[in-house]
Amino acid sequence: MSEPVDIVAAGREAVERIVCYDALSMDINGRRDSDIVSELCDKVERLQAREAKILKLHTPFPIYEECGHDGDCPTEPIEIDGEFFTCEEGFMYFVCFECCVVNDYQHEDCAGGHDHGKDIPICATVALLTTLQTGDSND
Ligand SMILES: [Zn+2]
Ligand SMILES: [Zn+2]
Ligand SMILES: [Zn+2]
Repeated sequence: MSEPVDIVAAGREAVERIVCYDALSMDINGRRDSDIVSELCDKVERLQAREAKILKLHTPFPIYEECGHDGDCPTEPIEIDGEFFTCEEGFMYFVCFECCVVNDYQHEDCAGGHDHGKDIPICATVALLTTLQTGDSND
């Protein structure tokens, strides 16, 4: 499969070529095609920036269980909630910092209410946004 097209860059480039139709589109729509495409590019850029902000908010937060090394971890120990020490081997899965974590603790609805795992998006928001990014849709 080919690389995904940067539609904003492609659009901005297209604006340069579209200029020759501006007189015609002025006649038909009272708007210049090049302005319309430029505005479209601006809008896509704003949407992409908003999407990036949302994804930054819904960032992965690692959940660990006790590793069972009993203080003799092969890698740097990680202190969890001041309650126990674990290490990378105790890593279970990522949850969503925005949806699943309250005051640095995994929310009980998260622990018992929905699934997390390697191939599952960390939350419904991330699932939706990554679906939009790849263009797949189950709707
Ligand atoms: Zn350990
Ligand atoms: Zn989330
Ligand atoms: Zn969760």
